[in-house]
Amino acid sequence: MKVLVINSGSSSLKFTLFDMADHSVLCKGLVERIGMEGTKLTYQAKGQKLEEPLQIQGHSEALAPICAKMTDAQVGVIADLSEIKAIGHRVLHGGMEFTQPTLVDEAVKAGIRKCFVLGPLHNPANLGGIEACEKNFPGIPNVAVFDTAFHMTMEPQAYLYAIPQEYYKKYGVRKYGFHGTSHKYVYGRVCEFLGLDPKTARVISCHLGNGSSLCAVKGGQVVDTTMGLTPLAGLVMGTRSGDVDAAVVTFLQLQAGLSPQEVDTLLNKKSGFLGVSGKSSDMRDIRDLREKGDKDAATAYDLFLHRLIHYIGGYHLLLGGVDAILFTGGIGENSYETRADIVKALAPLGCRLDEAANACRGKETVISTADSAFKAVVTPTNEELMIAMETARLVEG
Ligand code: ADP
Repeated sequence: MKVLVINSGSSSLKFTLFDMADHSVLCKGLVERIGMEGTKLTYQAKGQKLEEPLQIQGHSEALAPICAKMTDAQVGVIADLSEIKAIGHRVLHGGMEFTQPTLVDEAVKAGIRKCFVLGPLHNPANLGGIEACEKNFPGIPNVAVFDTAFHMTMEPQAYLYAIPQEYYKKYGVRKYGFHGTSHKYVYGRVCEFLGLDPKTARVISCHLGNGSSLCAVKGGQVVDTTMGLTPLAGLVMGTRSGDVDAAVVTFLQLQAGLSPQEVDTLLNKKSGFLGVSGKSSDMRDIRDLREKGDKDAATAYDLFLHRLIHYIGGYHLLLGGVDAILFTGGIGENSYETRADIVKALAPLGCRLDEAANACRGKETVISTADSAFKAVVTPTNEELMIAMETARLVEG
């Protein structure tokens, strides 16, 4: 069975075509700068990478050139589009309605639309991708895979904010959590890799990238996660502040004269590594600058680490001890120095780093010593494959 995975963002549309027989990637790529100057298609298949300028108006026109490449005599990977049996879509916010990957129909589209207020940047683009596929692939089922769905297994004490409950009931103000597709995938992988029983395993999943979140999982249920109503909460990220006292928001408005929109932009786009260092949102730059003696970059890194350790300690208790802590995402998979700093800080919990094993990059590896109280592991994530797997499962029934 061949499954196409679509991740439609505000100005880009990423695609990956999987052969589910062996989970191999037949082709992948993206259309970027949609609706701007310099729209471009990148297409990778059969060891080749092509880049072409495009003249298109919107997302719905982005699929035609992708389809043409997939069926092209030279670089194509399928003879006919009918070989694609289902399309899986990443959808950021499923609100309280969507707790599972869901086959798309009119009611589901209306549900995704209802969540526009919760995911104003992503959900409209995600729905745009679905509608584009409906036009370009008539009759082929579309499946929405929600970034929030895995976290809907949380209990009220984890997801409620301690504000009057009318705001939860009327507006859905609660913790939702994100990166759910990734956390679910790596939980499954780490259980298989370490031989843990997925019905009982206690795992702290650290997805560390431009956007970062932790997730405490016990027996496949989410006990807690660091992101909240939106992906702004929790850890210090590339450009997002993570947790701040909520009073900071009104303070900035009343004392610094920022508008609500300006505060939103400040906390989401100008904070985190970028805001604190004043130089870069990228972990590699932050580490390089810090090594060269840049004090602001060092402060940004220290903030990141401090917050992370604080959450890991809390999750260790909430889980009643852990079987494994795993690292994934661009930083988690690649930055062995950052992993070393984190695991060394877990010494009071009995976790011990195997320095030699930790030198790995992007490979499923145990990086703790044999006498460690619990395992520390690098577990590369694969959100596209997870979306394809969920899609195939739903369509096959
Ligand atoms: P996104 O959240 O956008 O998917 P990624 O998961 O790709 O982001 O992670 C991007 C982050 O990973 C950046 O901060 C980048 O510096 C970091 N990163 C990627 N490769 C390395 C590396 N080799 N060493 C250190 N950090 C890395």
